[in-house]
Amino acid sequence: MSLHHETLATLSRKLAAREISAVELAHLYLERIDGNRDLNAFLDVRPDVTLAQARAADARRKAGDAGPLTGLPIAHKDIFVTRDFASTASSRMLEGYMSPFDATVVSNLATAGMVTLGKLNCDEFAMGSSNENSAYGNVLNPWDKSAVPGGSSGGSSAAVAARIAPVATATDTGGSIREPAAFTGVTGTKPTYGRPSRWGMIAFASSLDTAGLMTLSAEDAALVLSAMVGFDPKDSTSVDRPPENFARALTEPLRGRRIGVPKEFFGGGLQPDVEAAVREALGTYQRLGAKLIDISLPNAALGIPVYYVVAPAECSSNLSRFDGVRYGHRARDYGDLTDMIKKSRAEGLGAEPKRRILVGAYVLSHGYYDAYYLKAQQVRRLIADEFRAAFEQCDLIAGPVTTSVAFGFGEKAADPVAMYMSDLYTIPGSLAGIPSMSIPCGFGAHGRPVGLQLMANYFDEARMLGAAHQYQLATDWHARVPAGF
Ligand code: GLN
Repeated sequence: MSLHHETLATLSRKLAAREISAVELAHLYLERIDGNRDLNAFLDVRPDVTLAQARAADARRKAGDAGPLTGLPIAHKDIFVTRDFASTASSRMLEGYMSPFDATVVSNLATAGMVTLGKLNCDEFAMGSSNENSAYGNVLNPWDKSAVPGGSSGGSSAAVAARIAPVATATDTGGSIREPAAFTGVTGTKPTYGRPSRWGMIAFASSLDTAGLMTLSAEDAALVLSAMVGFDPKDSTSVDRPPENFARALTEPLRGRRIGVPKEFFGGGLQPDVEAAVREALGTYQRLGAKLIDISLPNAALGIPVYYVVAPAECSSNLSRFDGVRYGHRARDYGDLTDMIKKSRAEGLGAEPKRRILVGAYVLSHGYYDAYYLKAQQVRRLIADEFRAAFEQCDLIAGPVTTSVAFGFGEKAADPVAMYMSDLYTIPGSLAGIPSMSIPCGFGAHGRPVGLQLMANYFDEARMLGAAHQYQLATDWHARVPAGF
């Protein structure tokens, strides 16, 4: 097996055994990034920075100061600000922006000794489901270059699927880790809202934005998550809990585990190829000793309308800082101050952020606040309560991630509502703030990957990752490599 097909867990053992060095690994992945530029997964690569970090990691190991992550390469979604690489959120607004500091997620991983390969393409300000909203072009799906890689973390999913990065950070506001993970056949993990720090994560919708990972396995996700999350006093919504070893439940058997299957996730829109793969995966869980329980989340279907009130409302507020004064692009020619701000925003922002700012400003305006925003928050609470009630009956919830496999470029780009429907099954968990993930569970139409979604109760990531790991011990969908990579 080629080295770049190995999981992080294996690479970590090889580093510890001195079979490879961090510098060798950095060279390997930098070459792979260079050889697969047509994917357009990376926005900024600086080999000198990467190699300097790799040399420092090797020096740490030599000095006896290495941990399990020291020397392992990682790439970051361009939503996290970084000191050594440009941070753009895939927007013209922030073209070439150099942050004076690293996001907490980035600095936590750097402290553990991880080596940064560069920054990854995504939808502009993480708004989208196909990566077609990036100001820097589409990312291709390594399984089928005529298909989208999913969004908004499309660069992250494509990079890991193509094995040009062994792990990537990503963010999930309404599905942006799980949906692209499903579309590209990788493992995408979103922890409980508030566990990973939002400090230095360019804000989209603050009450939903959650950092997470794209990896080749659940075991890898557990390994990296343990170093990545933790209380951060700089983030007012950070949850103050002691550090946790997320690998602690990997070996727990599935016998007796109760898996809830929500009937609302198998309704009309679900395509038969996706349903077949997901049902097969549920059967595998049953064979492994888990018990399937029928559950109901009656208000889950309201997730999309609720999300498209709450998320634009928060985005209209968060994006007001991009005015050409405090942050971002400034128009070259303008009259007075108002004209300058108008022109700067008109030039710097793409169509989707503009659409959402308009919707957000509308639902927050006087007279509409109660009718839309307040109502949406009330339904959001109902959805969260339904999850709480469901977890009285079961330990985990499982179902599809998306209604279909990855779609083609342009197929939904002209119809925002069709695009918004991509997150039908991921948004309910986001609104509730529970941990959830996508694991590869087969292939559907055109040989494109299908994901199985696992959801767990608040702070129950370890058990969710354990259930994913047990499935990955019994199947090899996660180890399939797209042709040519
Ligand atoms: N696709 C959803 C949206 O466009 C979710 C994005 C995300 O999770 N960042 O808002």
